[in-house]
Amino acid sequence: MTGEGIELVHVTKQYNARPEKKTALKDITLSIRKGEYIGLLGMNGSGKSTLAKLFNGLLKPTAGKVYVNGMDTAITKNLTEIRRLVGMVFQTPDNQLIAPVVEEEIAFGPENLGLPLEEIKRRIQWALKVCGLKDKRYHAPHLLSGGQKQRVALASVLAMLPEYLVLDEPASMLDPSSRRELLEQLNILNKQEDMTVILISHNPEDLIHADRLIVMDRGSIHMQGSPREVYADAGLAALGLDIPPIYELINQLRLNGYAVSGNIQSISELVDDLCLKL
Ligand code: ADP
Ligand code: MG
Repeated sequence: MTGEGIELVHVTKQYNARPEKKTALKDITLSIRKGEYIGLLGMNGSGKSTLAKLFNGLLKPTAGKVYVNGMDTAITKNLTEIRRLVGMVFQTPDNQLIAPVVEEEIAFGPENLGLPLEEIKRRIQWALKVCGLKDKRYHAPHLLSGGQKQRVALASVLAMLPEYLVLDEPASMLDPSSRRELLEQLNILNKQEDMTVILISHNPEDLIHADRLIVMDRGSIHMQGSPREVYADAGLAALGLDIPPIYELINQLRLNGYAVSGNIQSISELVDDLCLKL
């Protein structure tokens, strides 16, 4: 397996927890290309976190293969490079923050990579700027708000300059405005810095900026496609997933004979589109 991207080939993952063996993922085949913005969606227990941990070798498949830029995650000597390439941000930032000062937290990864001091400083400055944390550089992470902590966790992952950024429900602990900020930052990282973003959420509304949505259901891929395609699927409600109001509206309008055009993502775009046709 060569080339860029993350490839899963017939991946099954079973946890060996007693008393029963659980199959968390069943025969998943999936390619993620560099530069994509992927939204990974599904109910609790559908296998999203298991999938995320397979992407960077934290977990190994029970059967099948996972490749990152052509490197097999089951081969131990590949793991250092794979972990550098695939950065992970988890739901609760507290478990990820260890240093007494924000700057040190962000420096930790680059220092471990053995980078020159000048490069480490450059990366700290960049990560602080991207995450809107310039004024928090010398603060203690544990005294920051939940949203700020999550941004420190993101900054410390970004300082490793990962090619793939995997975020496992990073917004679920945040208030609405921190959540919007985080989603905005991810959009910028994807569009301007060409970073591949894999965002996990059980909230469809978080994922409207994704190029491709992958919907998980009980360890399998239920469907994948553009947000527009996925949210037009009546089956989503049966999986317990809400359709964002804007798509609900588009679906209803179409059922009533209004041909709503192309790639509409906001109320104002929808209004413009409808007014043009009246
Ligand atoms: P999600 O992130 O979508 O909520 P998970 O990947 O965490 O789903 O879980 C998928 C399935 O695997 C669930 O049935 C869950 O109970 C099970 N599972 C997850 N982690 C473990 C573990 N460490 N040991 C045993 N079973 C697990
Ligand atoms: Mg999870």
